[in-house]
Amino acid sequence: MNSIANANLFSRLFDGLDDPGRLAIETLEGKRISYGDLIARAGQTANVLASRGVKPGDRVAAQSEKSVSGLVLYLAAVRAGAVYLPLNTAYTLNELDYFITDAEPSLVVCDASRAEGIGAIARKVDAKVETLGADGKGSLTEAADKASSEFKTVARTNDDLAAILYTSGTTGRSKGAMLSHDNLASNSLSLVDYWRFTNEDVLIHALPIYHTHGLFVASNVTLFARASMIFLPKFDPDVIIKLMARASVLMGVPTFYTRLLQSPALTKESTRHMRLFVSGSAPLLADTHREWAARTGHAVLERYGMTETNMNTSNPYDGERVAGAVGHPLPGVTVRVTDPETGKELPRGTVGMIEVEGPNVFKGYWRMPEKTKTEFRDDGFFITGDLGKIDDKGYVHILGRGKDLVISGGFNVYPKEIESEIDAMPGVIESAVIGVPHADFGEGVTAVVVCNKDAGVSEASVLKALDGRLAKFKMPKRVFVVDELPRNAMGKVQKNILRDMYSDIYAKTK
Ligand code: AMP
Repeated sequence: MNSIANANLFSRLFDGLDDPGRLAIETLEGKRISYGDLIARAGQTANVLASRGVKPGDRVAAQSEKSVSGLVLYLAAVRAGAVYLPLNTAYTLNELDYFITDAEPSLVVCDASRAEGIGAIARKVDAKVETLGADGKGSLTEAADKASSEFKTVARTNDDLAAILYTSGTTGRSKGAMLSHDNLASNSLSLVDYWRFTNEDVLIHALPIYHTHGLFVASNVTLFARASMIFLPKFDPDVIIKLMARASVLMGVPTFYTRLLQSPALTKESTRHMRLFVSGSAPLLADTHREWAARTGHAVLERYGMTETNMNTSNPYDGERVAGAVGHPLPGVTVRVTDPETGKELPRGTVGMIEVEGPNVFKGYWRMPEKTKTEFRDDGFFITGDLGKIDDKGYVHILGRGKDLVISGGFNVYPKEIESEIDAMPGVIESAVIGVPHADFGEGVTAVVVCNKDAGVSEASVLKALDGRLAKFKMPKRVFVVDELPRNAMGKVQKNILRDMYSDIYAKTK
């Protein structure tokens, strides 16, 4: 499969396909799409793109609910040599205005209900608009139905762009991460090996397809392995547990696992047919890892990646999957931990900035050469913004985003350390530690805690339990018990929202 004349990801995925009748995708409604069908539909859609004036290198933006036609659109855009730009379905017109005017696509695909609003934005950059609904129908698929399935895949080099994914941008403007054909292909091929994917695998695909996890990791890995996926419109724990009887792999964000654990139907028996549970995109609590193992007999395999880098590290398939760690660098990827100020590499076990280098690392931020320069070291390492350490067995541990570091009275406080202490307390489900402005200390360490109802957890009980376990400067000055933490669609706790919510609690502290 790898003797490639054309480095286009589409060619790398499908050239040399020897069994076009093999099942690629099935849906809950019972639709079964073979590899041959998928290639043909991508051909029809690529012809529609070309007829709408999409040329190699042009961006094709899409905001539509998850559907097989949405996945076909991604494959078609790549096949046509265009740059696919998926957009979170939660984005408002105001936000879309930024993405569309920044990326200047030549075509925007969206739900019919938004065609008018998006049309007005698209006109500003001379982009055409086609529609695609959650049912997979719209002007795009109507045109594709009438188009030829023959399409000559456009030749691309390894470094040509296949996609731009905007980062979630919790601080400042969202940036477009430019991903090349080889960034995507090399990473997926390495995961196929690392996670032992074969054509016997059946993936439960319940992730959104506007994010690197569901679009690239889940879909590309399945297709490279000639495996199949059960394509779900959204996460539904009951449906997923039922499907486990005939599936082999689930890829999820940590909230999938915590929510599946709430179902009594999750047992050793119901997961017996499964061989692999992968978690990523946000930290999986060590407790969740242990509870999952106790209930199902499976150790969740946690991996670490980001929009800009695809996947960087993974716990081993055969070796120990360590709760709370994200494993070793994938083959070809180098991870180092440096002093955030000087960039000097730090000894093992020391906490610092995680930097990454390898074929997985993106080509820079779209139209932001200055920003790109500041995020890379001169020797090509990308500064991830994640703080962490590498332990003596070579496992990488993530201790939070650099911007989440709390500096109180001049001392660095790593939120994860305090969160782990709090999470270990009886009755506590999870916690988030943030720094908020404090008149004396610069920032005051503040804990926001979610606990079981009736567990009797209070500010006083948390502070009492921490007393003597943490240095004074690390002790939270306030603890708030809440019902839940704010999370985005990928399950990440939105600490920026918490910082805003509690921003003035120490304002009057003297
Ligand atoms: P995104 O670009 O949306 O995929 O977010 C990437 C960020 O998610 C990383 O920089 C990490 O901060 C976080 N992340 C991803 N995977 C993990 C993980 N397994 N554990 C902890 N944080 C993670």
